[in-house]
Amino acid sequence: EGSSLPADSGHEGKGEIHLVHLYPREMSIYGDLGNTRCLAARIRRHGYVPVVHQHHPGQPFPEQAHLVVGGGGQDSGQSTVEDDLERIADRLRGLAADGAAMLMICGMYQLFGKAFVTVEGKTLPGLGIFDVTTRGNEQRMIGPVVLSTDHGDVVGYENHSGSTLLGAGQAPFGTVRHGQGNNGSDGTEGAVTAHVIGSYLHGPVLPANPRLADRLIGWAAEQATGRDFEPAQLDDEVARQAQTRQVRRLLG
Ligand code: GLN
Repeated sequence: EGSSLPADSGHEGKGEIHLVHLYPREMSIYGDLGNTRCLAARIRRHGYVPVVHQHHPGQPFPEQAHLVVGGGGQDSGQSTVEDDLERIADRLRGLAADGAAMLMICGMYQLFGKAFVTVEGKTLPGLGIFDVTTRGNEQRMIGPVVLSTDHGDVVGYENHSGSTLLGAGQAPFGTVRHGQGNNGSDGTEGAVTAHVIGSYLHGPVLPANPRLADRLIGWAAEQATGRDFEPAQLDDEVARQAQTRQVRRLLG
């Protein structure tokens, strides 16, 4: 069921951007729903019309999708969505190959990789959009994170037992300056393939990092309209100050 956000104004702005939130019931912990709300609000402030679809297991996948987001969940939530994810796998892989923008956090990041082996030894096969493999551990990686990325400093919060290894050619999303990241040892965090970003960062991550939010929106706007992104000037002073405070507090 798609819920179109501002259907009242009667004009189309700079164009519609269709945003699909994957499994908001099963995979949306630690405030990840805030990413969807942030994207919808910023899309509107940039002068486009956000159309938000919630994709639940068993439902038809929305016909239009320019931006796809997924959040974190417990291992049990990941098992619940596994069959549906396999059903829509070709569509998601096709969208990714065509350049759609995607942000997959934590549990969904793991399922966009090749496989997630739980701490009990159960293997959940993934979509293989990222060349990464994840293994559950007894010890969790928990705490605040600061990354350097192509989109500037990114701040957030991690809480995962999965330890992720990147394949030889796989680009990470960022470099860890504080925190554990993919595995606590190689200094990488997340993964990026074309316009698909995977990351362990909750927070939710986008309201705290508006530059990253706008990069995703920009990619999606180009997909949706066939034209360059036409951003509006937004006031992000509050987020900028909060981000600077977190970086200073953690890095001195
Ligand atoms: N169950 C996964 C792990 O602990 C994902 C956790 C999460 O999404 N926060 O690694």
